[in-house]
Amino acid sequence: MPVPATAATDLPVVELFSSIQGEGPLVGCRQIFLRLAGCNLNCAYCDTDFHMAKHCQVESEPGCEEFVVWDNPVSLEALLGHLRQWQQNWPHLHHSLSLTGGEPLLHAEMLATWLPQISQLLPVQLETNGTLPEALRRVVQWINWVVMDVKLASQTGEETPWQTHGEFMTAAAESSCSIKLVVGENTPQDELSRAAELVVRCAPQAEIFLQPKTVGGKCSVPGNLLLRWQALLAGYGLSVRVVPQTHCYLAVL
Ligand code: SF4
Repeated sequence: MPVPATAATDLPVVELFSSIQGEGPLVGCRQIFLRLAGCNLNCAYCDTDFHMAKHCQVESEPGCEEFVVWDNPVSLEALLGHLRQWQQNWPHLHHSLSLTGGEPLLHAEMLATWLPQISQLLPVQLETNGTLPEALRRVVQWINWVVMDVKLASQTGEETPWQTHGEFMTAAAESSCSIKLVVGENTPQDELSRAAELVVRCAPQAEIFLQPKTVGGKCSVPGNLLLRWQALLAGYGLSVRVVPQTHCYLAVL
């Protein structure tokens, strides 16, 4: 459920840390991850703790996996101070900042205050469930990469918001937009075809990332199915990469 911030310039943070991006177009890049609390969906496969807590975890040095505890909500000044310190002490280490959740666009109003300053320190990638197009329009000018999910009902257990996803893709066109499809062995071909038709209509330049679900630390979808689905989507003239959650294999955060 949405989690409102409690002060005019503060936001509820879950964690701030440095790691290797494991998914999507920037896979392999070193990023600072800023995870905000709250989500408007309830996906069956969700493995993320996005709930608001009194405290959040902040990595003390990039990649050390030792954390200090900050009170929530967090002020922009505190966040900028930490980011500046990392940028000064470890220049050139980080490729970009990943703004993730939960669903970070629940906080679009405040992000319109935060992002102009954060984006001066590092380019920003937004990881989003693609359901809040109006919120995206408020902040897209400060986002370098939008990585949006198309939430397939066969995997989430909830109806796919096709129309809203289409509106979101259109709003994301101002940035570099990629589309992530989390698939499982039971994903029906019809569902992938419908997703492809939507992308062709609303965001034909977007690259698609087929992401097989990770179960027990392993890819849960047989390779022959992934090959078939990649061919299906490519048949629509789309660029399609198959990328599992590589951070699980690397055993990083
Ligand atoms: S949108 Fe993401 S964070 Fe929210 S429930 Fe779904 S998988 Fe979890």
